[in-house]
Amino acid sequence: MGKNAKELWKLYEADYKNMRVTFKGRRCLRCGKFMAHHSTPVSRWSCGGCGYTDYEIKH
Ligand SMILES: [Zn+2]
Repeated sequence: MGKNAKELWKLYEADYKNMRVTFKGRRCLRCGKFMAHHSTPVSRWSCGGCGYTDYEIKH
């Protein structure tokens, strides 16, 4: 599994008992659309609708 695929799957939570996959992605605080996660150059979430960007702080 490549790095990008791994990043993508972090957005989903697999429930094998109920055979369901739940999307854990974020919704934009401004317009409510789904936000895309980007890991380069810095980890952040960005909205395709209004351009809002939320930077992820690593712990
Ligand atoms: Zn937005």
